[in-house]
Amino acid sequence: MNCRRIGVVWKSNQIQIIMKIKNSSAFFSKRFNIFIVIVIISNLHFVKAQEEFDCEYTPVPLVELSSANFNELQLGPDDGRPYVINIHFWQVVRDDGTSDNLRTLQDFIDATALLNRTFGQFGVLFKYDGYDYIESTYWYDWDGDPLEDPTEMNGQNFYDELILPNNHYIPLSYNVYVVNIGGGSHGQQGPILPTRLSYWGLNEYVIIHETGHFLGLNHTFGTYEEPSNNPDLCEHQTRNINDPDFNALTHGDKLIGTYATPYKYDEYPDVLLDGNCNYVGTAVDCNGEFYINPEYKNFMSYTRYDCYQEFKGAQIAKMRFVIREVFLGPLNTHIDTIHRKELYKPYIGEYYVVGPQTNHPPQFQPGLDYEFVDVSQAGTYNVPTEYEDTSFWYGQTVGTINKEYPGPIYHPNGTAFKILQLDQNQPRMCYNNTNRTPSDGSVIHFLDGYPNGNYTITPQDSTQINNSELINTLNPGLYNIQKNYLDGSTEQVMILKENE
Ligand SMILES: [Zn+2]
Repeated sequence: MNCRRIGVVWKSNQIQIIMKIKNSSAFFSKRFNIFIVIVIISNLHFVKAQEEFDCEYTPVPLVELSSANFNELQLGPDDGRPYVINIHFWQVVRDDGTSDNLRTLQDFIDATALLNRTFGQFGVLFKYDGYDYIESTYWYDWDGDPLEDPTEMNGQNFYDELILPNNHYIPLSYNVYVVNIGGGSHGQQGPILPTRLSYWGLNEYVIIHETGHFLGLNHTFGTYEEPSNNPDLCEHQTRNINDPDFNALTHGDKLIGTYATPYKYDEYPDVLLDGNCNYVGTAVDCNGEFYINPEYKNFMSYTRYDCYQEFKGAQIAKMRFVIREVFLGPLNTHIDTIHRKELYKPYIGEYYVVGPQTNHPPQFQPGLDYEFVDVSQAGTYNVPTEYEDTSFWYGQTVGTINKEYPGPIYHPNGTAFKILQLDQNQPRMCYNNTNRTPSDGSVIHFLDGYPNGNYTITPQDSTQINNSELINTLNPGLYNIQKNYLDGSTEQVMILKENE
């Protein structure tokens, strides 16, 4: 008797998690072009914000200085390169570690995914770098009320007393602090450019708004206060640089590509939005002119909770300019953007190498587009290859995961993968582990000698499916042997056993 392995007829690696959630990634074409991106509308649907959103934005002097060199009318070449920034989360809890609003690993992973779905559309990506709780009942109870303590308005002592002296920060990361009230992007504090958020804003538009500040954007309306009626103080309507009334480069957010916008949609007279967030009001600016297309869908405005939807091309260009000119330049000691390959590493869990199998497979960040390719015939790679190693053979695409998929995301055995926001071409992390043993399985016997509906199924427990004599014990015939693994993957092999 001999037995012939016909080959892997179908090898379904975690098909249940490699699913296409939507038809395509709507906004990320093969290579984004900063000059033709005009408006991106995020397909985010926020639940109703629980509290009024007020942002205590403090500019970063170095960014402001460099921004003066940002010339919207003569954009230099964009390097088209993805920038990856580490992000680390902190939450202030009571001295005993409790909180009524405790956020956990999944919330921080979801927040990172939200940022990547949004900023990843123009090549700015975030690598989740962990989270910590800061135990302090005083700061947990802090209400940020400037009437009680004028220094609390910008929370400066939050950094001076709590964060910096106790080293509650990661120098090379974007540090995001979750508190119970208040928030904003708070300029430069010692070696970091931190953001503080109310807990409810962590998985909302708030974190996108504050991250826009972090990357150098101002509010579309300029200052916090309602614009005064002094015509010199508000941004005028004209976008024509030759108009004597033109002041868009020095007022508001100092961008021509965003229209002049009044202060809060619900605190400025005659501002009206329809159900689709379109402006239908009759508000006038401090020059007595009607507002034209004010930015009430913009992430950097104060708009209705469901209307935070878009960045304009000028804002995108400015954020990438700030990263290039400031983060990669004079602030290079503060922000390390060379973390591309880190996104290919799991944020939790461990690869199986050899020995007993645990049920903690590595997981990867949601919010990115993944494509898995077949490496099952590439040879044995019991440990995944390094990011730099591109020497392995690979075959066809066997699955994709869309950035909208909430997770969990695993790396199936027998595949390598690419993250499309980083690289459309070269798969990395070839993993083809031959040490894994199945937890159970089944033997399907095709009684007619070819695959059809006439078959029997014999379940196999762990001992049976791992029995090296399993095939020898089979009578001649056509079989499909299915092996199930602890991480949820399955492997099916067709066996034709013939008489000698
Ligand atoms: Zn703000």
